[in-house]
Amino acid sequence: MSNHPQPGTELLDGVSGEELFSVNMGLTYRDFLVLPGFIDFNPSDVELDTKLSKNISLKRPLMSSPMDTVTESEMAIAQALMGGIGIIHYNNTIEEQLEQVRKVKRFENGFIKDPVLLSPEHTVADLDDVKERHGFSGIPITEDGTANTKLVGIVTNRDVDFEQDRSTKLGKVMTKELITANQGISLKEANDILRTSKKGKLPIVDKQGKLVALICRSDLKKNKEFPHASKDDTKRLRVGAAISTLPESLERVSLLSQIGVDVIIIDSAQGNSSYQIEMIQFIKKTYPAIDVIAGNVVTQGQAANLIAAGADGLRIGMGPGSICITQDTMAVGRAQATAVYKTAHYASKHGVPVIADGGISNIGDIANALAIGASMCMMGSMFAGTKEAPGEYFYENGIRLKRYRGMASLEAMNKGGDKRYFSESQKIKVAQGVSGYVVDKGSVLNLIPYLVQGLKQSFQDMGFRNVTDLHTALRAGRVRFERRTESAQAQGSVHGLYSYTKPSMRVE
Ligand code: GDP
Ligand code: 5GP
Repeated sequence: MSNHPQPGTELLDGVSGEELFSVNMGLTYRDFLVLPGFIDFNPSDVELDTKLSKNISLKRPLMSSPMDTVTESEMAIAQALMGGIGIIHYNNTIEEQLEQVRKVKRFENGFIKDPVLLSPEHTVADLDDVKERHGFSGIPITEDGTANTKLVGIVTNRDVDFEQDRSTKLGKVMTKELITANQGISLKEANDILRTSKKGKLPIVDKQGKLVALICRSDLKKNKEFPHASKDDTKRLRVGAAISTLPESLERVSLLSQIGVDVIIIDSAQGNSSYQIEMIQFIKKTYPAIDVIAGNVVTQGQAANLIAAGADGLRIGMGPGSICITQDTMAVGRAQATAVYKTAHYASKHGVPVIADGGISNIGDIANALAIGASMCMMGSMFAGTKEAPGEYFYENGIRLKRYRGMASLEAMNKGGDKRYFSESQKIKVAQGVSGYVVDKGSVLNLIPYLVQGLKQSFQDMGFRNVTDLHTALRAGRVRFERRTESAQAQGSVHGLYSYTKPSMRVE
């Protein structure tokens, strides 16, 4: 809380969180506003440090959802670099999920850890194909085109520019005199070599001469510092992995724990089950170093069961997701703001942070979720459509789009995503989600700073410098709220204009 006395605090306006949510009616983020507080600080003074789970603190209250169109390694790396965390989905084989987690744990800023490789037997046409698909053409050549054999050369545009015969083998045109660096070199040392050698690529090799990483000159200037990055004790990026309550998860958890996963999320649409309770107890007993986030839940009773079983964090939401049709289909769920407030209220008494999951489409929703007790916001649609989300872009009517689908859409369930809906043995699948498309949002590395800046301004308006102060004030009834009528909501959105341009979240 601000040290400055807050003028007018004796004139309490609006209602407390307790009063706001005491109505017997589910509220969403749109149904209320936070009344402004007193400002005696700048947005830059706002700290967004928060807790993901009992034992993991993060610098940013933002995270990406374990969905197969949202979080694989590229997204998880970007999220962790920006101070949040990504949770790798489990709509894949155990080995595939492990590989995604490994990539995040092995990530080093500036080092490309699994560069595209070719062999001397590949042709210039193969190189053209790589260029077409990936956009780059500086390709290390190893004996068999994989990282298991020795580095024998490198090809770049300059080696093949004038080659008329595109069936020429790369072994003939590649550069064989290589400047390489040994594994263990720092990014600064590697960059110095690139600068003095004036080469475009620096392969990093191990003692056997096998390629372990590649550094690109073109990235020299781009390599940003990430002061808020989420890192474990050994300075590796943090990452989470989702599992189901099915028996195969026992093996998943065992292998995930061996490669250093930081947190496990038990991903269930209705988390208040004997399966989940047993899974929490098993993981906490067998792998005490891993934090377990349980869910999803929306009521205090559900939260109580999972906390009693040992959950280190809770994921809140049943039905608010943008791709979700659970509430229509099952008639079960809860309006998201009420779910977050009620569960957070209970969980805070047990020191368990809660994650507001789903239904977040702008900065105001994030601010509202935090103001009613959430410690983190999990987002799917917000991050789908970014460069780091899995999947290729394509154009429709001149608009650049990416696919985004619910994990309980028929499409995702057919690929195994129904593990979260207890339907593994059911022949008839009832979808609880849809699949669709979202517009290109650029890079998460630009989107998150935009969200963070907006959030800091929102905290300033509310009169709070950090999440802890906000939550303390919430519990003391000092964060004041007001319900919004439908006409107030209409008034709070753009109205009365013939036309206007909506601000884009795509930040260049
Ligand atoms: P090139 O000379 O055609 O290879 O392209 P540049 O070096 O100018 O740019 C390549 C960009 O792609 C850099 O930003 C790299 O970090 C990025 N990149 C990502 N993965 C790879 C990879 O596997 N190989 C290469 N060469 N670049 C990659
Ligand atoms: P969004 O951020 O897009 O509004 O919501 C993302 C969240 O929706 C996910 O984190 C997850 O909790 C939930 N979700 C993902 N897929 C489905 C689905 O197919 N059906 C339902 N009911 N919820 C989903």
